[in-house]
Amino acid sequence: MNTNKIYYSYQNLPNEISLILETKVSQNWRCNIWHIRGSERDLIIDTGLGLWPIADDIFQISERSIIALCTHSHHDHAGGLNQFKIKSGHLAEQDIFSNPTRKSTVADLIKPEHLLEYPYEGFKLESWCMEAAPITNPVQEGDIIDLGNRSFQIIHFPGHSPGSVAVWEEKTGIMFTGDTLYDGVLYDHLYHSIPEIFKESLQRLKEFPIATIHAGHGPSFGTNKMHSIIDDYMSGKRSMICPV
Ligand SMILES: [Zn+2]
Repeated sequence: MNTNKIYYSYQNLPNEISLILETKVSQNWRCNIWHIRGSERDLIIDTGLGLWPIADDIFQISERSIIALCTHSHHDHAGGLNQFKIKSGHLAEQDIFSNPTRKSTVADLIKPEHLLEYPYEGFKLESWCMEAAPITNPVQEGDIIDLGNRSFQIIHFPGHSPGSVAVWEEKTGIMFTGDTLYDGVLYDHLYHSIPEIFKESLQRLKEFPIATIHAGHGPSFGTNKMHSIIDDYMSGKRSMICPV
């Protein structure tokens, strides 16, 4: 029996994409973990906190090799990356993936109420840090991830963090945005966030012919919602540093 199932939910969506969620992490903290199936390889975008085994679950679902790509190195997205063999992330955050600290992965922000269950007895959240996950396949702007019958392009959207990337499938108009865009208040106040650069990235995102945004947190949405979230942010709403 696979007991890990209770720690992750798995929802199939169109276009051979599934959404994996950590069931023991609060809804306002857990990231969206995306599983995209290709003919030759599968792609995992973001990996959650990694407090429970995730890679084993996915290996049971897929017989193909898996590329695990983190949109950035924050603990809620990159905590599980060390469980995968092929580890991908942007060059600008390579050092953080290799030598994570609570500060560099913003794990100082996680609070007891964000975990519905601890992974083991004696677990100490206040000193927890994600496992090091040295990048095996660094990516940068324009790189292509080839899954066989479909391919994805890396789009560098710095601002939330210096190495934040989105993953773009031109054929379907699907963009996986990580923490660059989701339906909520956008985090532009972290130690390595640069709001002015973040704005430039959001401005650039508006130029893509988007059909669907699969965000780093919360629900997916279409182009109209994308524009309204970005417009809100530009006018000072949805900003951590400039709440309106
Ligand atoms: Zn983040």
